[in-house]
Amino acid sequence: MATEVMIKPDGVQRGLVAPILERFLSKGYTLRGLKFLNVSKEHAERHYADLSSKPFFGGLIEYITSGPVVAIALEGKCVVEQARKIIGATNPLAADPGSIRGQFCIDIGRNIIHGSDTVENAQKELALWFPEGLV
Ligand code: ATP
Ligand code: ADP
Ligand code: MG
Repeated sequence: MATEVMIKPDGVQRGLVAPILERFLSKGYTLRGLKFLNVSKEHAERHYADLSSKPFFGGLIEYITSGPVVAIALEGKCVVEQARKIIGATNPLAADPGSIRGQFCIDIGRNIIHGSDTVENAQKELALWFPEGLV
């Protein structure tokens, strides 16, 4: 089983790539893909297509395209569900303090990291971010 995680522009700019990666790799998950890239508006809109009717959609797309991101493919037992737990709740103020969002951020609109929420979405997101396939 594999999932897609993305360190958002604020996570990259704040120097949090290494501590974030460390959380997943030290847990025992395997790196199957890793890329540092600028995201086009079209790509960001496809990634967050499910949220296109939300009032914050425009701001979300601006946020995700505001600087380079790190896209990550991780593999291992129950990784979709476990990565979501390690990431924490969408609103960092509601996130467990031991989670990545609970530890590193306070704003829902700047919550530093994304993780696929279901196995089905993980497959879609891996195909979007790693169309060449996993290593
Ligand atoms: P992601 O999909 O980025 O992993 P998530 O699944 O925890 O996040 P979603 O409901 O999918 O949360 O929301 C997508 C993203 O939209 C959130 O991560 C956050 O950056 C942003 N967002 C969600 N709710 C709000 C909000 N009320 N105000 C501002 N931004 C929000
Ligand atoms: P998650 O990132 O936890 O999977 P969602 O998939 O629902 O959450 O939302 C994706 C991203 O959209 C969030 O990580 C966050 O960046 C942003 N977002 C979600 N809800 C809001 C909101 N109410 N206001 C602003 N941004 C939001
Ligand atoms: Mg989501």
